[in-house]
Amino acid sequence: MNETNNTELQLLNEIQKLRTELLSLHQTTETHTARLFNSEERFALAMRGASDGLWDWNLATDDVYYSPRWKSMLGYDDNELENNLTTWATLVHTEEKDSVLKKVQEYLTGEAEFFEVEMRMHHKNGHDIFVRSRAFKVTREPNSEPIRLIGTHVDITPQKKAKQFEERHNKIIEMIAKGKPVSEIYIEIALLYEERHPGLRCSMLELEGNILKHGGAPSLPKGYCDAVNGLVNGPGVGSCGTSTFTGQRVLVENIETDPKWAKLKHVALPYGMRCCWSEPIKNAAGKVLGAFGMYYDYPALPNKEESKDLVSASRLAGIVMERELNQKHIRDLAYTDELTGLSSRTHFYLNIDELVKTSARNNRQFGLLYIDLDNFKNVNDSLGHDVGDLLLKEVALRLKSACREIDYIARLSGDEFCIVVNDIVDDYGTAHVAQRCLDLIACPVEFVGRKYTPACSIGIAHYPENGNSLLTLLKAADTALYSAKDFGKNRYAFYQEELTLRAEYRFKVEQYLREAIEKQQLSIVYQPKIDINTGKIESVEALSRWYHPQLGEVSPTEFIKLAEQIGMIKPLTEWVLKTACNQLSLWHKAGFQTLRMAVNISPSHFLDSELVPLVKRIIDETDITPGDLELEVTEGVVQTNTKNLDVFERLKKLGVLLAIDDFGIGYSSFASLKHLNVDFLKIDKYFMDDMLTDKKARILIKSMIEMGHSLGYEITAEGIEKRKQFDLLQELECDSAQGYLFSKPISADEISKLLTRS
Ligand code: C2E
Ligand code: MG
Ligand code: MG
Repeated sequence: MNETNNTELQLLNEIQKLRTELLSLHQTTETHTARLFNSEERFALAMRGASDGLWDWNLATDDVYYSPRWKSMLGYDDNELENNLTTWATLVHTEEKDSVLKKVQEYLTGEAEFFEVEMRMHHKNGHDIFVRSRAFKVTREPNSEPIRLIGTHVDITPQKKAKQFEERHNKIIEMIAKGKPVSEIYIEIALLYEERHPGLRCSMLELEGNILKHGGAPSLPKGYCDAVNGLVNGPGVGSCGTSTFTGQRVLVENIETDPKWAKLKHVALPYGMRCCWSEPIKNAAGKVLGAFGMYYDYPALPNKEESKDLVSASRLAGIVMERELNQKHIRDLAYTDELTGLSSRTHFYLNIDELVKTSARNNRQFGLLYIDLDNFKNVNDSLGHDVGDLLLKEVALRLKSACREIDYIARLSGDEFCIVVNDIVDDYGTAHVAQRCLDLIACPVEFVGRKYTPACSIGIAHYPENGNSLLTLLKAADTALYSAKDFGKNRYAFYQEELTLRAEYRFKVEQYLREAIEKQQLSIVYQPKIDINTGKIESVEALSRWYHPQLGEVSPTEFIKLAEQIGMIKPLTEWVLKTACNQLSLWHKAGFQTLRMAVNISPSHFLDSELVPLVKRIIDETDITPGDLELEVTEGVVQTNTKNLDVFERLKKLGVLLAIDDFGIGYSSFASLKHLNVDFLKIDKYFMDDMLTDKKARILIKSMIEMGHSLGYEITAEGIEKRKQFDLLQELECDSAQGYLFSKPISADEISKLLTRS
């Protein structure tokens, strides 16, 4: 009632003021021949003044009359704003000021027939409102020069917002229809409601089992979202944890005091959140899929509009969630092989396509195994399809256990499977997986009381050598599969035949090496190390030899590497250590008490925690002293990783001597020295080879000797073949040397003769 009276009063005041103005205008018209353009219209404006704001701009003085309604629309009292153009200029949105003034200009100069603009203006409360302004000019004769501009302001914020809301809403529907990623849609839904209610922040959480999963909350801080993501829902887990648990709306007016937030408020309050209303999101059947949350930075309960929006927002999010779940279900059905639970052919195709792309980008290789069961048709025919299915399931399990975590298995059809072997270093890696598959598949299995031994054939192709697309790769693997079948089944074949032969050879060698110790095919030769100053043999280095009846003499570099790869290096080193130390003990007993023995230790074994006890045991068993044993290891083992230094320390403590072998050719020669405490540096043969012809090589050797000496190491030169090399080394004050000049690696008997002679 009071409000109406006030409005009427305002209106009357307005009209009164206008009347006075009109009167004075008419008077001026008489004296200055000015004419009020369309004075009736201006009056009509005045009549609407209760809801529209009025303004009247004197173009000569820039004084502007703003009606009380004009001011109240922006949240101000009549006496709070001054009647000049600056008032408008400070209240209009900066982005729009110039364009509005331009329109004024166009209208005043007659370029535009009428004046009508929409602009954002700042409300006293801090938000913007949308205003539509129309105006008429007052001109003065004789040349119709404009002297004032009189206009209205209408608050069109509700219409504008409704339109924006509708546009955003339509956009979301379109996104859902187009199957855009849910995370993007969640963001749009949040923004839709946040725009409608200034200060509001929205979140959508998905419920997986009883775990809350972050869906979307573009205006909530990441720290808060991360803290909520993964929580188990329940009655005391904030508003959304509670609403997803009970299936009921939860309105928390004050996070600080509400018991439902007791355990969680410490993550919300620091980010300013003070109230939280949550609506459970449900599917058509009423199952809770998640929750829609609304937050404000002050304690509050929702008003009518907010309450309505909470429901509609959760329904909209529900459509998105349900659709996503359905699609996931459809995807799962299409991408999983029902019988075995492996990936389906569809998924396999997609996966390979994707893998080809990423491998091309990252310059990576992968292997493809095409597996086909041998004689599967017989099983189906003789034992029935049910048994056939059981066999396929069993095969799937076995293939899984033959693969590593990073590999990928799919069932393509009937009895055909595919394995993608990722991150392969060489074709041998793929052959290894294939061999494991063959071995595992070939274990007997019992069905309905009958024993059956399955078998399979495998074709192997490599990306990118044998094909750089899904189709070419599959074709290559298929071709390889056929050659495996042609060769008699129960085997694998590479697309490139030579690879099959090579892999087979390696498997054979592997097998032979496993038997080598047992069959006593290994032996040791010894190479003396000479004291450069006295010319005497100070130690001998034990070097392994392997002679195989079929393969002949195999180079130690080759079989040592293989032994490392197949886990044979430990027994091999143990054998060498034991044999060499026994031999040393014999020499000691024969009177060569000062002779020492050097044994090479592979880097991988050197870092093994069992090395130190092993060395200790052998020293004890063979009755030598620790100082009689030198262990040689390449510098690669140290690099800059100080973690490995522990082994050095423990071996030193034991009293054995340590040598860095092949020094100078590793990539961290100098860095390694920083941490080390060893007895010898053995400069690699590489430097000796051209020391007589290359000045640089000489300079390097000289520097290594000097540097080694200043660090307290003895220096040994490896691979000395010429007298001149020896002379030069003597000149450079090298301590000891080894090489064909003195002796090739020879048998223990021959060493005994050498020792006796010298
Ligand atoms: P290494 O420890 O650096 O041994 C020196 C290699 O250079 C030996 O080759 C030796 O025969 C050769 N050599 C020595 N003097 C000369 C020379 O004047 N001229 C030429 N051309 N060659 C010379 P070998 O016996 O073939 O051994 C090669 C590598 O295999 C060794 O290098 C060592 O790293 C490894 N190795 C041998 N036996 C064992 C073993 O029992 N265990 C381990 N872990 N590694 C071993
Ligand atoms: Mg050596
Ligand atoms: Mg060496």
